[in-house]
Amino acid sequence: MQQFSNFLTHLECGLTGELHKAGIVHGLSKAGKPLLARYDLSAIKAGVDRDSVWSRGGGFWKWRELLPVSSSENVCALGEVDTPLIPLNTLHRSSQVWVKDEGRLPTGSFKARGLALAVAMAKELGLSHLAMPTNGNAGSALAAYATRLGMQSTVVCPDDTPSINIEETALQGAQVFKANGLINACGAWVKAGADAGKWFDLSTLKEPYRIEGKKTMGLELAAQMGWTLPDVIFYPTGGGTGLIGMCKAFDELLALGWLEKKDLPRMIAVQSTGCAPIVRAYENGERFAEVWQDAHTFAAGIRVPAAVGDFLILDGVRNSGGFAIAVTDEAIEHARIKVAREEGLLLCPEGAATYAAYLQSRADGTVTSEESVVLFNCATGLKYPMPNAGVALDLEIN
Ligand SMILES: *Cc1c(COP(=O)(O)O)cnc(C)c1O
Repeated sequence: MQQFSNFLTHLECGLTGELHKAGIVHGLSKAGKPLLARYDLSAIKAGVDRDSVWSRGGGFWKWRELLPVSSSENVCALGEVDTPLIPLNTLHRSSQVWVKDEGRLPTGSFKARGLALAVAMAKELGLSHLAMPTNGNAGSALAAYATRLGMQSTVVCPDDTPSINIEETALQGAQVFKANGLINACGAWVKAGADAGKWFDLSTLKEPYRIEGKKTMGLELAAQMGWTLPDVIFYPTGGGTGLIGMCKAFDELLALGWLEKKDLPRMIAVQSTGCAPIVRAYENGERFAEVWQDAHTFAAGIRVPAAVGDFLILDGVRNSGGFAIAVTDEAIEHARIKVAREEGLLLCPEGAATYAAYLQSRADGTVTSEESVVLFNCATGLKYPMPNAGVALDLEIN
């Protein structure tokens, strides 16, 4: 077993800054808000070279100095890769628009980043049974990594979750429940089980380490672009882990001197008009978002009526000079078809939402053609329903 040099020092409440000790199991902070992992960044700055980190293999595990895991035994590898940046150069010849395609990760979505870290830390801290609510992709990532580390997993999802997500999750070893309620109701059920001592609650942002996994999107993007960043990032925002994680990554990279302030992008939170609590709070100038009633959108990953990290998302968006924007399901579908037909790139609906939001922002002038843009496609398009196709051909006529 290899011990890593571990630079994790403590955890901090994302709202109050109150300190919490590392090395023991944590859920939310004492104030009921997400906890953020903190590292000895000056020691990393003094002893770690960014390019030698970037030259390692192992996908997101390569960032180990900036991750909380301390033993290689808990690094559970399922073939993680650095995900490609694909230019949309047919649709946008004169602008730089890239898709970061997270569908290439194990279990087909970027949930692998967050869950790999959350599960590894749960193992390191001695937990054995993990549970969470999910709209789809988080469940299969939890199942895969938990099974790989010999841990038990339980997943509950709304009963209209795409059957492929339910089936892939079950097949990879989780016990799966289909509930007659939305994700927040499923979350309440998981919390009740955790309070009763049945399992540990691994819900989005209710434990500190998923953010650390999602943070690697920001680290990877910076390295991939030659230690700089695009002008604008469009991110499909559900629980917001990825947006929060990337902002945290950029802060850490600044502190390390691996990026400069002028490199920082504007962060755009993209939601659906059928479920846009963050957009509404952004527009009303609020720091916390109210629960969205009657949430609906076929982009299930962003159908999240209430996010425990709402203020961290909104702070990240505002501090970066970005904004929050909602797009219709029709615009999402249209964007998905357009990118597939014209670029040969199949997006998931949530990824397509970022392209729809880009087009809308270009049309209303909030983003210009001079700005370089990265859109996040968070899952493989293959997991989602597609329009019927194929023309009948009768081989027996003549
Ligand atoms: C989970 C998920 C999202 C939302 O991600 P957050 O970081 O929780 O906001 C978006 N798209 C897909 C495909 C997802 O699975």
